[in-house]
Parts: sequence; C-alpha cells; structure tokens
Amino acid sequence: MAAQRQVRPDKYTEFVSGGLGRDVAKRLGLPQPAILRRYTPGAPLVLGPILVVGHTEGSDAVADVLLSWGQDVRRHAAPKEKLGAIVLVLDGLAHPDRLSAPLREVGGALRDLHRNGRVVSISRRAQPEDAPEAAAARNAVDGIVRSLAKELRAGATANGVVLSNGTSAAAPSALSALRFFLSARSAFVDGQFLTASSAGSPATPDWENPLAGRVAVVTGSARGIGASIARTLARDGAKVVAVDVPAAGDRLAAVANEIHGTALQLDITATEAGARILDHAAQRHGRLDIVVHNAGITRDKLLANMDAARWDSVIAVNIAAQLRMNQAFLASSHFADSPRIVSVSSTSGIAGNRGQTNYAASKAGVIGMVRSTAPLLEDRGGTVNAVAPGFIETAMTAKIPFATREVARRLNSLRQAGAPEDVAEAIAYFASEASAGVTANILRVCGQNLVGQ
Ligand code: NAD
Repeated sequence: MAAQRQVRPDKYTEFVSGGLGRDVAKRLGLPQPAILRRYTPGAPLVLGPILVVGHTEGSDAVADVLLSWGQDVRRHAAPKEKLGAIVLVLDGLAHPDRLSAPLREVGGALRDLHRNGRVVSISRRAQPEDAPEAAAARNAVDGIVRSLAKELRAGATANGVVLSNGTSAAAPSALSALRFFLSARSAFVDGQFLTASSAGSPATPDWENPLAGRVAVVTGSARGIGASIARTLARDGAKVVAVDVPAAGDRLAAVANEIHGTALQLDITATEAGARILDHAAQRHGRLDIVVHNAGITRDKLLANMDAARWDSVIAVNIAAQLRMNQAFLASSHFADSPRIVSVSSTSGIAGNRGQTNYAASKAGVIGMVRSTAPLLEDRGGTVNAVAPGFIETAMTAKIPFATREVARRLNSLRQAGAPEDVAEAIAYFASEASAGVTANILRVCGQNLVGQ
C-alpha cells in the first residue's frame, strides 16, 4: 500500500495556529484557519460521540447503523459533552414549521462540537409534484446547511445528504455519503450536498479498502492532483494505470512505481487515446473499472485577447478528449462491471473566472457531459460524477502572483486552500462500490469558496 502523505498547512495557517501568531491574529481580527484533520486509514471516523437529531423511522435507522459502525451515538445532547458530529435527520419534513424544534436542538449542541467536527443533514429533494409546504421545507434545508457551514469554526464543516424519490435514510448510498461527510476524507468539503438513490446492491462495504480488486486509470497523474488521486486510489486498494504525456515520463514512472501501478505515456487528445487505455488495462488486468479524467490545462487570457491556439488547446484537453474517450469506454465489454467515471471540473466552470472563458467553458462542459452520460451507464450499474475543486495548492496555482494567491486562499469558509489529497479523497469516494446510487453529482471541494452558488 502507498504510504500516507501528511498534508502540511500553509505557513500563515501554521503561524496563527499557536503562541504569538494566534494572539496577533486574534487582536488584529485576521483570519484564523484551523489545521484540518485529514484521513488516515484506521483513524477514528469522528472525534467523539455522534448526536442524531430527529424523531422519524429514518433517524432511528441511521442511529442503528452508526452504532453498527462502532460509533458512540446520542439521541439527546448531554450537558457539556464534546461531540464529534451532529447528524440532523429531516427525511419526514412536511412543513417549514417543523424545522424549529430540531434546529434549536442542533443550535444548542453546536458549542460542544469538537474541533474539526461535522454537521450532516439528511433530507429529501424537493420535487415539482410535492405540496408547496413540503417543497418549501425540503428546500429550506439547503439554506440552513449552507449558512451553518459559514458559521462553524475550527475546521468544522456542514454538509447534506439528499435522498432522491423513494430512497430511505438508511439506503446504502445514503449511508456511504453520510460516512464520507462525517469522515476526515471530506476535510475541505463544506456547505455541499450529495444526492443518493437506492440504486445498487446493498453490499456490506469494506470501508478501509473500498477499491480492492478494482482497476483504475487516472489521466494527468505525473504530478499535482492527478498524482494524489493515483496514490489515494492505490491506498484504497485499486490497481492504478497512471497516464500522462511522454514529456512527463520520468515523473509518471516514479508515481507508478511508488504505488505499484503501471505507467502509460499518452497524450489524451490523440484520437486513439481511449483504445490505448483499454488495451493497456485489458492486457494487464483483464478489465477497466474506474476512469478518472483529471488531466487539464489552463491558457488564460481575456476573451478580447484570446487566440485560437489558447482556446482550442483548452477545449481539446479538458473536454473534447474526455468525450471521445468515454465513447470508447462505453463501447467496451471491458468497462462493464459497475464502472465509475469521475471527472475533474472546477469552481471556475460553475461561477466563471476573469481571463478563463476557455477554461470555464471546458469545465462547465464537463458538468453537462456528466449529467447526460449518467443515464448511459445505468444499465451496467455504472455511475459518473464530477468533482469541482476550488483553490488547491499545486504547480498550476503556484503560478498565480503572490498577492492574488494569498487572497484566493482565504476566500472560503475554511480560510485556506485545499490540498490535492482533498480532491483525491472525494474522487475515491465516488469511485467506491458503496456509492452505486450516487450519480450525476457535482461535488465542490472548495472549502465553501465564496464564488458562485
Ligand atoms: P497540473 O498542471 O499540476 O497537472 C496536470 C497534469 O495533466 C500534468 O501532469 C500534465 O502533464 C497532464 N496533462 C496535461 N495535458 C495532458 C494531455 N494532453 N494528456 C495527458 N496528460 C496531460 O494541474 P493540477 O493543478 O494538478 O490540476 C489537475 C486537474 O484539476 C485539472 O483538470 C485542473 O483543471 C483541475 N483543477 C485544479 C485546480 C487547482 O487549484 N489546482 C482547481 C480546479 C480544478
């Protein structure tokens, strides 16, 4: 198994995390980012008891499952007891009037939430056919979670699981989403929702080794986020085919060796890229289960100054190559056993970004592709999702001028940039078999970046 790397906080975060630095930041009212707790295999799921709020069949079922996971569960807050997490089960909401009691219960427990604690809601998606009262109540959860995420401090996060029609709170995919949000795997995910359905087999997942026996390909994995994705998938048990351009061959080989995977030097814009990946995976492993479309480039310019080369190269790498490769994968019998596709989009594709019309077009394009590819994978038990990173510390963002970079780092609820590992953990979550009922989701890994939705 690949060794777990420690994520180092940025220098400012380190400075304000203790002693003089903390006092100075406090006195001057400067941001005080917390050192986030990241996942290490075998570490506790959360750092204290889990309070389950709500009195429905769903909340009872969720409490039972948490107990079966070995968690310390409370149905009522005990005075002054530190809590690892609060799970707010609102699956039976029929009117906004009913929000008051459970939300006051949550409010009363927040002061006892541990550093790096978690609040996770479980609610139902509002549907056009819902009674207006029920739709209002269901949609209200959106506003609650997004606001609470902005109120929490000390590395704590708030996120929500949304149940699609007919899905129970204890459906396997709802539980796997709940577990992801509770765990340190979601350290940089804040104010976000995952929608889960009851699709997929109710297997008993291997939480420590969720990708055991699966074969994954990761494009652009010679460095940055891609290298981290390759390491994380290998840590979770997958056999990894690491893909990058020939010019990055040495670094690619180093990553592949480190994780006992294989390297495939390939420009993904080549017409036969999909076929080359399938041949490589089929020859070595007889199959391909997980595709992570990570390779991406930026060629920033204001549209008024944009030349064809910048526009075309970004579209070619970031979206056209994915579309072409997916066609090859979908036509292959080697990509047939509950396959997973996970694409890397960007918050720029959601909110737009000055100087990035080309990049934002490609990353918004990824979101469109994900939504319309999901039905094509259904009959083989497959899923396709995207992760939209915000500001992540990599070679790509190291090119941003210092002052702009420092501001960008702090513009989110956690007041810091994410690490490549944070994106990788979200991708590993989507790739796991336990996420069979989670498809067509776009998950922002951005610390609740202030831009856009
Ligand atoms: P990076 O530049 O550090 O790494 C990208 C990798 O992709 C490189 O190894 C590169 O050689 C490879 N690549 C580029 N073109 C390729 C091609 N045609 N064929 C094969 N490989 C190719 O970038 P990163 O910061 O690690 O970003 C990874 C992904 O995350 C990209 O899709 C990027 O758009 C996205 N993203 C990054 C951030 C961030 O803050 N770093 C934020 C949002 C989204």
